Amino acid sequence: MIGIFGGTFDPIHYGHLRSALEVKDIFGLNEVRLIPCASPPHREQPAVTAEMRLQMLTLAIKNQLGLKIDTRELDRQKASDQTPSYMVDTLKSLRQEFPIEPLLLFIGTDAFKHLTSWHQWQQLFDYAHIVVMTRPGFETQELNDFFKARLAEAKELAQASAGKLCFQQVTQLDISATAIRAMIADKQNPGFLLPDAVIEYIKQHKLYETH
Ligand code: ATP
Repeated sequence: MIGIFGGTFDPIHYGHLRSALEVKDIFGLNEVRLIPCASPPHREQPAVTAEMRLQMLTLAIKNQLGLKIDTRELDRQKASDQTPSYMVDTLKSLRQEFPIEPLLLFIGTDAFKHLTSWHQWQQLFDYAHIVVMTRPGFETQELNDFFKARLAEAKELAQASAGKLCFQQVTQLDISATAIRAMIADKQNPGFLLPDAVIEYIKQHKLYETH
């Protein structure tokens, strides 16, 4: 089973890293692929270049067995200038590479709230399971019939390659890239919110220094 964790990673931080590691162990995944997004369809564009976000990811997961970087969204954008990074296209291309292996797409509860506005959101389930990472005490919102029909327990996901919806509690660290960028612009120290090697890179390249 392969985990997929998409994001802007602007910059990558311990909130992302801790949850990627935790779901890898909970679901017994062979690997979790961190997929940096080239041009996010749902939000303002990243503050730094794709190349720099990728370099920060590389520094962050160095020596972390089982966490991998997958650059297909960046590669796709280079090949076909400026199309948004639709997750459905990413899953489709992963499915071509892994015809039968269960694929688990991990998203936060914030992303799940807006899932029905994603491009071809129903087709996402043709290619992968979706796992919503929740915090303790999270109450499942009223689910539509499409979601209800797909609800499954974590242990059921290995039995099919795609199509299920699962809610999984993970440790939540209250860290966001937005808050980190704001701290740096305010000349505060972001230490212990993201790896030292990434902080060093940000300093060297003078990233996020203005609001
Ligand atoms: P920003 O503040 O710029 O919106 P972010 O910190 O939310 O960034 P993204 O790169 O947009 O990071 O998030 C990628 C994925 O990581 C999303 O699925 C999001 O729900 C999840 N995520 C973000 N922060 C955390 C966190 N602290 N703990 C667990 N998951 C997180």
